[in-house]
This record gives sequence, structure tokens and C-alpha cells, in this order.
Amino acid sequence: MRVTCDIKSQTFEELQTQFQAWEQPTYRETQLLDWLYVRRVTNWDAMTNLPKALRDRLRQHYSLNVPQLVRKQGSRDVTQKFLWQLSDGALIESVLIPASPALYGEPSDRHTLCVSTQVGCAYGCKFCASGLEGWKRNLSADEIVEQVLAVERWHVAQREASPLADGGVDSESGSGAVPHSRLINNLVIMGMGEPLANYDHLMKALGILNAPWGGGIGARKITISTSGLAPQIRKLADEPLQFRLAVSLHGATDEVRSRIMPVNRKYPLSELSAACEYYQSKKGRMITFEYILIADVNDSLEQVKPLAELAHRLNAKVNLIPYNKVEGLPWQRPSEMVQERFAAALSKLGVTTTLRREKGHDIDAACGQLRLKTERDRLAGAALARD
Ligand code: SAH
Ligand code: SF4
Repeated sequence: MRVTCDIKSQTFEELQTQFQAWEQPTYRETQLLDWLYVRRVTNWDAMTNLPKALRDRLRQHYSLNVPQLVRKQGSRDVTQKFLWQLSDGALIESVLIPASPALYGEPSDRHTLCVSTQVGCAYGCKFCASGLEGWKRNLSADEIVEQVLAVERWHVAQREASPLADGGVDSESGSGAVPHSRLINNLVIMGMGEPLANYDHLMKALGILNAPWGGGIGARKITISTSGLAPQIRKLADEPLQFRLAVSLHGATDEVRSRIMPVNRKYPLSELSAACEYYQSKKGRMITFEYILIADVNDSLEQVKPLAELAHRLNAKVNLIPYNKVEGLPWQRPSEMVQERFAAALSKLGVTTTLRREKGHDIDAACGQLRLKTERDRLAGAALARD
């Protein structure tokens, strides 16, 4: 028998089938899931209530990969960014955003985690760091799931190191004293990569993160952000789970949008908005438009009217996000006056509008930037070593 896949890419049913084939009693699966998703152990030997023979079998059959933390930016109570190294050496980012008035959900949000779905991105939006060096590969389901577990593991370790300074609330007991408590109750799929281009792995991972035996995160607390893959938006509308959808619009006319997002040539606004309409009709009011404000590109008042029309048609709200400067790219964030003028004009047309005061701007919060910087540092380091 050889390792075929990672244990954390397995659904309840898949594990059940395997355990039945191994003639294991049902409670063994419950014990295994507890080790994986409640205690979040990182090796088979830690699963002390499973017989050694079963542990050996599991080890031969499945991998149990965990990402290594390479770099972390940010401190307690502010946005924190994690750079992970995967088993093949690839680097990805996750961003932990602490309790704040919710961006996508209810006002009681506690901790939101922004996760990556690919290494790099093939969509090449002109303003984005993730796409700068192209697409390397899709993340597997377990690599998506592990971002949540690894941040929670890190949180438990922090808390054990300094229990009095804990900012998290224990969702299971309310005491804050249980070491295995869950930290993350909101997920945004807005890290590196285009989630809907890794559709099957994403759906599998979200199924696991949503399941009561897995991550226990409500589907309505999970927001998937897409640059606008119209066919996959329709497919997502037909899924049983009620995920929220965020569409990265960034331009309310084809002319402006195509200039900064090549994907708009494939799926222009007419096609994208029809797919969003379909999503909206199936799921109710669950669409948000993301609109980065970039100086002299899409921040003119001419964009406000078509943006309002689209938002009204789809019953969507609009999140305005001041652009985060990316090293090596020419784009700039508009002045606060321009940002506020745009937001006010949109609100005046009756659109629910938020202007995000970007947390963590100073730590390269826009995903993809920490990885880019680290990869460039590594290349520079390798070049120095060669000289
Ligand atoms: N590929 C998906 C999800 C990842 S990008 C998408 O495009 O929606 C997540 C969000 O970050 C998108 O809205 C994207 O446009 C935005 N983004 C990318 N670079 C940014 C930057 N430098 N400043 C602000 N937002 C940025
Ligand atoms: Fe890819 Fe999204 Fe960045 Fe565009 S904005 S390059 S789709 S990660």
C-alpha cells in the first residue's frame, strides 16, 4: 500500500468507506476526526487512543501534511499575515483579520481568515501582486483546509505562551481555557489565486471546513471572491451550500474593466452580470461587488452611474477598497478626498456602500505581496550565494 492522498482532503463518507473496508468500528473515525479537526495534531503518533496497527495503516495510506510558517507580519489585535511553505516548497499566504465591524457578515464577527487557493494566479490583473509571476499550481483540498487549522494551531500556541494576553474567545465553552478552541468563524476566499479556477478542490475543502465534524464554519460565513468566471459562478449557484459571493468588479464599464482585468475580454460585463443575476436568483441577496479605487484608472465619477445601475440590478452592495500599492507596479491609491467623493456619490444613488479603511496596509495586506517579496529575497540571496 502506498500514500495516495492527504487525510485532510477526505470527506466523512470517503473515510467511512475506507474504515469499513478495514473493518474498523464506527467510533474510530470519530476519534480520528477529533484528532485532526479539534486537537489539530500534526503527526500520527499523537493519536494515542487509536491502536498502533491502525495508525500504521493510516500512515501508509495517507499523508498528513502541515504547512511550515516561514514568515509572519503584524501583531496581536491587528491584521496578521502568515507566509506558509508547502511540502513541495511553494509559498502561499493567509491573512487573519481580528474582530471588527463585519465586512461581509454580521456585526459580531470575531476572526476572519483570508485563504489562498492557488500558488500564483493565471488571470494577470494589472494591479495585483499575486498574478505578477504567473500561475504555478492549484492548491489541493487539504492545503486549503490546513490554512485554517495551522492558524488556529498557531493561536493556541500563542495563548499557551501568554494566556493573560489572549484576544480570542473560545467558541465551545466560552471560558477561553480550552486549548483546542476554534478561533476562526469567518472565511474569505480572497488570498492568492482565482478560487473558481480551482473549483473542485475548493468545493471539497469548503465542504470539510463547513462540516460539523470538520471546521464547523457556517456556509453563510464563507465568502468566495472571484474575478468574474461567469460559467463557474453559475455552477456555484447550483451548489447546495449558501456561500456568499464577492465579485471583483473594479470597473463598471467594459472599457475600464478590460484595461485592468484581462478576464473581462473573455467574460465581459453583460455575461458576468447575467451569471451574477442567476446566482442572485438562486441564493437571495448574497452578492458583494469589490471595487478597488485606483487613482486615475477607475476613480472618476463617470464610473459611479454604471456601477450603481449594476448594483441595483443585482441587489448587490459595494465594498470600495483603496488600492494597496504594490512594489514595482505604477498604480496609486487616490487621495482620501477622492475616495470619499466616490463613496458619497454612490450612496447618493441609493447603493449600500462601504469604504474600507484598509487594515494592515502597512504590512502589505493585499495578498500575494509577502510571497512576492520573500521569493525575490530568496532569488537575491541565491544570486549572492553564487557570486
Ligand atoms: N482572484 C480572486 C480572489 C483573490 S484577489 C479575485 O480576484 O477576486 C482578492 C481581492 O483582492 C480582489 O478583489 C482583488 O482585486 C483584490 N486586490 C488585488 N490586489 C490588490 C491591491 N494591490 N490592493 C487592493 N486590493 C487588491
Ligand atoms: Fe488573480 Fe484575483 Fe489577483 Fe486578478 S486579482 S490576478 S484574479 S488573484
